[in-house]
Order: sequence, then structure tokens, then C-alpha cells
Amino acid sequence: MRYDYMLRKLVEYLARKSASMIQKYRLEDLVGSVAAPYLEKSFDRISMSIARDGGGTFWCRLCDKGPFTKRGFYLHLIRVHYKDLEYIVEEELKRALEVVRR
Ligand SMILES: [Zn+2]
Repeated sequence: MRYDYMLRKLVEYLARKSASMIQKYRLEDLVGSVAAPYLEKSFDRISMSIARDGGGTFWCRLCDKGPFTKRGFYLHLIRVHYKDLEYIVEEELKRALEVVRR
């Protein structure tokens, strides 16, 4: 799998998780079964620092905008914060791979 492709899918994965949307991919298929549980845990944690749940609506913790619907929030993240998410994902991916190599 090409790195760019994997990165894009992981950004999508994190954005969907932050918006509590159903995933289109499995993490195992993107990063392998060893790194996946680690990444799942860190994405769980990170998604809480990205989204503020307003009881059915979402607020963005990165820029304080909202309220959004699920879908609206997902699109906001992809359109406005793609680079932020990409940076976060790359850092977490590096950490996950270090854990795997140990
Ligand atoms: Zn935002």
C-alpha cells in the first residue's frame, strides 16, 4: 500500500471517529494487525480532543466553531483541518511503528 494512500485513509478514519460516524475501513487493513490496536487507542483519545459533543451536535475544539451535524463536522474536519489531522496522524503513526518494532 502506498504511504500517501494510507495516510489519506487514516486522516479520514480519524475524522470519522471524531464525528462518531461509521468507518469505511478497518484499521488492521490500513496499518496491519500489530499497529492497529495501538493506533485505535490513540485515535480514541485524540478524537475527544478534536470534538466536543453537544448532545447530538458537534463543536470543533480546533477552532471553536459549531454546532455541526455528524456529517457537517466530518466535512469541516476534512475541508478546514486536513493538514492538522495529517500532522497528528503522522506523529501517531511514527509512535505506533516504534511500539511495533520493539
Ligand atoms: Zn474547526
